[in-house]
Amino acid sequence: MHKTLVANRFDHESLLRLKATGLTDLHSAPHLSELKEHFSAATALLIRSGTEINAHLLSQLPKLKVVISATSGFNHIDFRVCRDAGIAVMHTPHANAISAAEHTLGLIIATLRKYGLARDNIKMGVWDREPLLGSELYNKTLGVIGYGRIGSRVAHLAKAFGMKILVHDPYLEQDEFPEVTFMGLEEVFRHSDIITFHVPLTKETFHMIKPGTLEWLSPHAVLINASRGAVVCSHSLQNYLVEHKSFLAGLDVFETEPLSSDSALIRNSNIFPTPHIGATTRESIARASNEAVDKLIHYFRSAHISDPVPPNTPWAEQLL
Ligand code: NAD
Repeated sequence: MHKTLVANRFDHESLLRLKATGLTDLHSAPHLSELKEHFSAATALLIRSGTEINAHLLSQLPKLKVVISATSGFNHIDFRVCRDAGIAVMHTPHANAISAAEHTLGLIIATLRKYGLARDNIKMGVWDREPLLGSELYNKTLGVIGYGRIGSRVAHLAKAFGMKILVHDPYLEQDEFPEVTFMGLEEVFRHSDIITFHVPLTKETFHMIKPGTLEWLSPHAVLINASRGAVVCSHSLQNYLVEHKSFLAGLDVFETEPLSSDSALIRNSNIFPTPHIGATTRESIARASNEAVDKLIHYFRSAHISDPVPPNTPWAEQLL
């Protein structure tokens, strides 16, 4: 019989369904460290991004055969160490695209309409609309960097606001996506009012926002990042904001998470921050839990692997 350890937030119903198969013993806790007594016999892990899979952890799990992360991102998993140890790794990349895309639209509007400052002011009894002058989305140009599951959905939603869409994604062909206009990175930066990132973290996307590329953007542009924190060099962004008071940013992800409360990034009122909540919805968590459980059941029954980590894509060679 398999022994599965479940850490982080999982949908209760999906775990009951797994239990009902009779394929595995199940032990769950908010943190994997609370399940140490089961480590020596564990054959499977169900996790989310709160659990880091590294060589130190694997050395304590000698019978581990499979790790399934109910997440789209997989930066919390050292997949090279897993591969060397013969451990299969899967994730649920489709489960949270809707939530992440909706949150991106929320970030765009909250940043453009200065919801953070509006809330702070109203709580302090300040009823001054002058600093809260915002902009419409209608007729603006949205630059989407990475046109995968989330980026393409963001573009679809943005079109409903009457936005024009430019895309940079060197791994896709324009012919297959006639609904948007593909361009080089610099062209998209130079022609967009708002830039939004939906790329994996790779050697190519690390610090895509840095001094040289910030100069391509309009000083009145809006930068949105709900992909991975290190896509934006936070130090460069902070410096840029000191000199460019009308530049705005909406950030859900940060180079260091959790973000320190004294970070200059959150002291700056031109930044609307959220604490990596793109996928934090009831629906997304339930969907990801169910998909992860389905994958585990398939794996137990037939050693079937779907949505492997790293993914079978050309850009996987660039993963950090
Ligand atoms: P995806 O794999 O479906 O799409 C990524 C796209 O980026 C692909 O089309 C790929 O071709 C493109 N790409 C790769 N390298 C590129 C480059 N150098 N320049 C431009 N494009 C490039 O991924 P997804 O599911 O859409 O997720 C996108 C990102 O969002 C990931 O980093 C994921 O971890 C992150 N994410 C964040 C949250 C959150 O809570 N904020 C939730 C879900 C996903």
